[in-house]
Amino acid sequence: MVATPTLVERSVTNADTVALDRENVFHSWSAQKSLKPLAIAGGSGSMVWDHEGNTYLDFSSQLVNTNIGHQHPRVVAAIAQQATTLATVAPAHATHVRGRAAELILKHAPSSMSKVFFTNGGADANENAIRMARLHTGRDKVISRYRSYHGNTGAAIVATGDWRRIPNEYARGHVHAFGPYLYRSEFWAQSPEQEAERALQHLRRVVELEGPGTIAAILLETIPGTAGILLPPPGYLAGVRALCDEFGIVLILDEVMAGFARAGEWFALDAFDVRPDLITFAKGVNSGYVPVGGVVISGEIAATFDDRVFPGGLTYSGHPLAAASIVASIEAFEDEDIVGNAARIGRDHLEPALLRLAAEHPVIGEVRGMGVFWALELVEDRETKAPVSASLMAQLKTELVSRGLLAFTADNRIHVVPPATVTPGEVAQAIDIYDAALTAVGR
Ligand code: PLP
Repeated sequence: MVATPTLVERSVTNADTVALDRENVFHSWSAQKSLKPLAIAGGSGSMVWDHEGNTYLDFSSQLVNTNIGHQHPRVVAAIAQQATTLATVAPAHATHVRGRAAELILKHAPSSMSKVFFTNGGADANENAIRMARLHTGRDKVISRYRSYHGNTGAAIVATGDWRRIPNEYARGHVHAFGPYLYRSEFWAQSPEQEAERALQHLRRVVELEGPGTIAAILLETIPGTAGILLPPPGYLAGVRALCDEFGIVLILDEVMAGFARAGEWFALDAFDVRPDLITFAKGVNSGYVPVGGVVISGEIAATFDDRVFPGGLTYSGHPLAAASIVASIEAFEDEDIVGNAARIGRDHLEPALLRLAAEHPVIGEVRGMGVFWALELVEDRETKAPVSASLMAQLKTELVSRGLLAFTADNRIHVVPPATVTPGEVAQAIDIYDAALTAVGR
């Protein structure tokens, strides 16, 4: 059954919910005083609504996690069913549902992968992948990119390249490098081939100068997400793999945002001919219906801990409600061809429509992406590529919300990131809203 806004509890108003929130809740990444959060009361598929029946097309997928859409009936039912059987259990026990969740994840991962370690989300997945790499190699340093986000815990936030690292630099052994981003090339490159070659040469120099024997891991988002949906140019990830092989470095690919249909692939790495040693995941694996993440571990790294204690664990590792939601979600992905839908939507609907939008709005400097993972880079001038201001982005967000679209914005970009279940009709509706909002802000 598809819920409709009419089923929403009408005795609560949007103002009640916002007042309760502002009275009691401390929010992420924000100065608290001026916050005005939007009240959300329910959702279904690509839509959410408030207490007063206003509906929004969710082209943010919240924090780019509702890959299966809101309230998918199979996932909701699986959580309810598991809750009636066994709502929680210690991770040391064996549960069928956790075994099945791991089996299904491995079914869609490269064949070199052999085990899954479950965490509570994406940050602690990266935390544990880094720990595994350090213990496996006996080395300390981790190289990651400036343009990256890996989560908000000890090592993950310091592996992050963006501004959020700087007030949190308490972990040690982290080094950053530039990755490929042809639109704003750090390497004066003119073509994807040059960008890949020069970014690889830069990474090689960082490895050499840091001391290859000190580097445990290179940690990369397969497609940097929050940093701008930066598709790696052909050959780049294969080159990183070769560099890792040359120096005995573990390659960790962070698929927390890019995985599970976001890029129109089960794992985004499938599109780039690269085999990592560790894969971190969260978000799309169960669309965040229950918090969960994890590390997919190669046979070789898993074997390191055959006779040696792995010094890591979490009370809720492999939580049964999370495991049940993963099983139901992956089975629905398979039965409903949700990965295929994301790929087709990207190729046949989003890409052509976003390019048409760019032809009409000179403020769009670049359109890039794949699957249901697209960025519009907004610039004052296509020649200088000067980013539009934060105040223009705020105006744009207001215009989009007022027309009924929840947008994901980051810096000077709109990330067009609907659920992987989105329909062509919903894409057309969203494109009309982006068009009208860009016109309303005079661009
Ligand atoms: N890695 C990537 C690529 C992410 O995008 C995120 C979250 O946005 C994380 C890690 C952190 O995941 P979580 O917020 O579940 O800890």
